Amino acid sequence: MKYDIAIIGGGPAGLMAAVRSAELGASVVLLEKNVCLGNKLLLTGGGRCNLTANIQDPRVFANRLGPKAKFLLSALHKFGVKETLDFFQSRGLAIQVEDNNRVFPASNKATDVLAIFTKALKKYQVEVRTSSAVKKIVNQGKKIIKIVLADNQEIVADNFILTTGGQSYPQTGSSGDGYKWLKQSGHSLIEPKPSLTPILVEANFLKDLEGLSLSEAKLNLYQNNKKISSISGDVVFTGTGLSGPAALDLSRVIDPQAIKTLTVEIDFLPQLDALALDKKLQQALTAGAKQIKNNLSGLVSPKFRNVLFKLSQINPEKKSSLISREERLTLVKLLKNFKLKLKALAGFERAMITSGGVALTEIDARTMRSKIISNLYIGGELLDLDGPTGGFNLQICWTSGYVAGESAVENK
Ligand SMILES: Cc1cc2nc3c(=O)[nH]c(=O)nc-3n(C[C@H](O)[C@H](O)[C@H](O)COP(=O)(O)OP(=O)(O)OC[C@H]3O[C@@H](n4cnc5c(N)ncnc54)[C@H](O)[C@@H]3O)c2cc1C
Repeated sequence: MKYDIAIIGGGPAGLMAAVRSAELGASVVLLEKNVCLGNKLLLTGGGRCNLTANIQDPRVFANRLGPKAKFLLSALHKFGVKETLDFFQSRGLAIQVEDNNRVFPASNKATDVLAIFTKALKKYQVEVRTSSAVKKIVNQGKKIIKIVLADNQEIVADNFILTTGGQSYPQTGSSGDGYKWLKQSGHSLIEPKPSLTPILVEANFLKDLEGLSLSEAKLNLYQNNKKISSISGDVVFTGTGLSGPAALDLSRVIDPQAIKTLTVEIDFLPQLDALALDKKLQQALTAGAKQIKNNLSGLVSPKFRNVLFKLSQINPEKKSSLISREERLTLVKLLKNFKLKLKALAGFERAMITSGGVALTEIDARTMRSKIISNLYIGGELLDLDGPTGGFNLQICWTSGYVAGESAVENK
């Protein structure tokens, strides 16, 4: 049988492409190498699925993606955040908007997002073939003529949509297969790198801070003492470094090659400048308790207090009234400029996304069609486009998948 459209990869981008193209009447086969669809989708948002960011103006949304944002603008005008919310809500998914515009299903279940797709795939009679790993794509000139599965079955279609994702969390199935095929067919690849990853740092007190979570801290990134980036948000100390949304977002601007020249300074209390913090410390030290360890509880958590005393070399048993101005200023410095030398970025195993991918100059932004292979469309994380935490990366998948699905139907 010859299909109108064959889609390789049953993640968010492939699912959306399949539903849209089949809804328009195309005969569609969706090929997924895992035994089930959407493995990574089910992990998103800690199993709750932060499915988009509620920023409905395409320009404002695109601006948050960084320098390559322009690429997505036309597609966002066709199927942006508003249309995505309509898509899910009209199919029965109740949503809730949380802080920083993050959108989740009201049920807090990523499985409910996947269920919307499985229902729609059935309704529009998409042929879903799980446990079907594609091993080869066969081109003739500027066209794909067929694909070959691991068991040597061949799939023939008029148009093909490639949505095999990046290389991060490879256990979910995203093992970078698409990159290889794209290169073979003459596309340029921007080197795939782990992104939105925990940041590993050099410090001998990390175990003491493991699990400490800071809300609305500020991370300042320095290269050779020059500030190069700054991000505010929630941060979590892991046994090896920093994670949490602000640290993950900061990892996007970190060049792993230059990592040894970089330091991060944490501002634990960005709402107070150094002067105001010193005043607050003075007040805390004169209030009630006698030993300094009992006077800081309003300002810092017990976990961090111990490290603070260690690094400042202030004896926690010391009477607050005996703390010198110099000691106080040391505490202020540690709280405002807590310096950590960077060691590495966690690798693909722990990266939420892969940056890099197929060069955007080789993709028609209005259709997601390859400019090199005339019956190939590309969507999702395979594209050299990514965003910060907060639902932006799934929106890239919904938008590019929808547009790829619709355009492939129109390509006769
Ligand atoms: C832990 C975690 C949490 C995340 N949380 C969020 C979040 O809350 N919000 C957000 O916006 N983003 C989040 N992301 C990012 C988001 O999940 C990805 O950007 C998104 O899944 C990419 O979708 P995709 O369809 O491009 O690729 P993928 O989801 O990677 O899907 C690709 C599919 O292709 C299949 N495949 C690969 N090779 C072959 C082959 N040879 N043959 C057949 N099938 C193949 C794979 O098995 C896979 O199912 C998170 C990522 C992780 C890892």
